[in-house]
Parts: sequence; C-alpha cells; structure tokens
Amino acid sequence: MHKISKIAVLTSGGDAPGMNPCIRAVVRTALYNGLEVVGVRQGYKGLIENDMYDMNKRSVSNILNLGGTILKTARCLPFKEDEGMATAYKHLKERGIDALVVIGGDGTFTGALRFSKKYPDIAVMGVPGTIDNDLCGSTYTLGFDTATNTVIEAIDKIRDTADAHDRLFFIEVMGRDSGAIALRAGISCGAEAILLPEKQTAIEDLIKNLKEGHMNKKSSSIVIVAEGDKNGGVYDVAKAVQKEVNNYDIKVTILGHLQRGGSPSSFDRILGSRLGFAAVNALIAGETQKMVGLQANHILLTSLEDALNNHEFKLEADLLQMVDILSI
Ligand code: ADP
Repeated sequence: MHKISKIAVLTSGGDAPGMNPCIRAVVRTALYNGLEVVGVRQGYKGLIENDMYDMNKRSVSNILNLGGTILKTARCLPFKEDEGMATAYKHLKERGIDALVVIGGDGTFTGALRFSKKYPDIAVMGVPGTIDNDLCGSTYTLGFDTATNTVIEAIDKIRDTADAHDRLFFIEVMGRDSGAIALRAGISCGAEAILLPEKQTAIEDLIKNLKEGHMNKKSSSIVIVAEGDKNGGVYDVAKAVQKEVNNYDIKVTILGHLQRGGSPSSFDRILGSRLGFAAVNALIAGETQKMVGLQANHILLTSLEDALNNHEFKLEADLLQMVDILSI
C-alpha cells in the first residue's frame, strides 16, 4: 500500500444535484488530513486537456445549495482510447497526483476501472452520482432524491390544472433504463398508471384502467411514462389511448432537463457529504477500484467491478404492487 499525498476530484457524465456538496466534502476532508487537492474541470476531458487547478478550503465555499457541479462535467470520447488515457496519466503524474475521486454514473465508473487497471499507481474511488438511481452497491445515488422531488412538484401543479378541466395527462420523466424516478414520483403524486422500462405495460390494460377510473368519477388522471418505456414514447402512448378514451381531454407534458437542476435536497446534501468524506478516508486507508455507497444507512465499499456487473437495479416489489391498489 502506498501512502497518498495528492488527490484529484472530478465530476463526469450526467450532472446530478448533490455533486457540489460531495466535492466540498472531498476537498475539506482531504485538506483536514494534510493532503493536497486538485479540481479537474469537465471530467475526463480535463485530465486529457490538463485543465485542473489547486483547490483550497475557500474553493468550495457556499456551494452546498448549488445544483449542477462547480467542476463542470462532460462526455469525453477520447478517454475511451488508449492514447487519451495515456495523456491523462501523464498529466496526473506531472502534477504528482496519486489518487482520483470520480463522481458519476456507470460510464464514469467503467472509465475509472479501465484506467486504474492500466495505471494501478493512481488509486481511484467512485462516488455514485446520477439521478437514475441505477448503481448496485448504493440504495440511493446522489441526485435521485432531488430529481424526484422536482418531478413531484411539477406533477402536483399539473394535477391542479388536470383536475380543473377533467383532463388526462401523460407526463414523460427521465429514465432511459431505470424507472426509479417514475415509480417514486408516481406513488407520491397518486398517478393512475406508471409506465416503466423494467416492466411491460399492455396498452389495452392501461385503457381499461383509465376507463374504470372515469366510471369511478375520477375528475383527472395522470399517467407517468419513463423515457425508456417500451411502448414507443409518451406521444405514441397518448395517441393509442386517445383512440379509445374520449371522456377526457388528453394532454402530453415532457418534463425534460428541469429534472436535473435545482438546489440539492437535504437528503442529497447529507448523502453527498457522507460519500465525499468516506471516499477520501477510503483512499487514505489504501483502498482503490471501489465505490462508496449507502447501504442500510451505512457507508460501505463495493468493488467497481461489482457495482458495474450487477448494474441492473431492481425496483422495490411493494412499490410496484401498490401502484394500482392505491390509485383506485
Ligand atoms: P455516466 O457516468 O453518467 O453514466 P457516460 O456514460 O456519458 O455518463 O460516461 C461518462 C464518461 O465516462 C464518458 O464520456 C467517457 O469519458 C467515460 N467512459 C464511459 N465509458 C467508458 C469506457 N468504456 N472506457 C473509458 N471511458 C469511458
């Protein structure tokens, strides 16, 4: 085990609220332990382009409440190539950096693991930062809670207008492979139906359900459709239903990128702080190629390999079961 002396921190891939509290915790925990800290701008792009700066205690002042990431993030294709990785390594070595904290999702971790296998003298620690909540080894990922709260706030507002006009709304929320946001927001807002990538919903069943709702004197209905639902997207679903359900005025809303923004919730501020603190302590303890995660309210380490191999996140069975029961 080699003792580390200088840590670099970066955010990569999709941004998520809570990344800033995590950066703050990484910087201050490292400084507290006598380590130097370098901030890398725009994820792996900053490693390749040597776009990094020394950070001090004040570099992370007043950022707990900010959405996005002060380090910026990017998608960086050259890092997937041997040459890009070699350039990144050269820049890290030139600066005397011997450990790297990467905050991001599965793509970011895939890159970190490949890099670390090629260059094991740079220790790497992953922090799960993605609104999708789809990484194994952490019950919650950074940003998921805030994003879900943002979606709930928006859907509550849509419910008001839907109710006033007897409308049926189809609302698309983020989640190409993961229905985590759709499921939680749907239960929280009493959605009449939730369409998820993990579970095929037959359009005929949806139509039957909505007709029953109307017969039961529902004054509005809300159907949440996750981006990755297999029925072809929110407009196709709305069109198919429109042909069969004519008691309601049908509208479609796509929530889009507003779901990524906003001030991190209390939960994400605490989670970001805990994960950042734990990531630095794990590196000091000589750990590498691991991810810090929240399990049963404890911060535990999972190998990056396991976090990626068991990538498929399973939605909670009780939540799935209660969707229809609670929205009759
Ligand atoms: P996320 O981390 O949110 O899943 P991406 O999938 O876009 O986001 O990945 C973020 C970045 O991680 C990519 O832009 C790329 O630089 C790096 N990355 C992804 N996959 C690999 C890979 N197979 N090898 C090296 N780097 C990778």
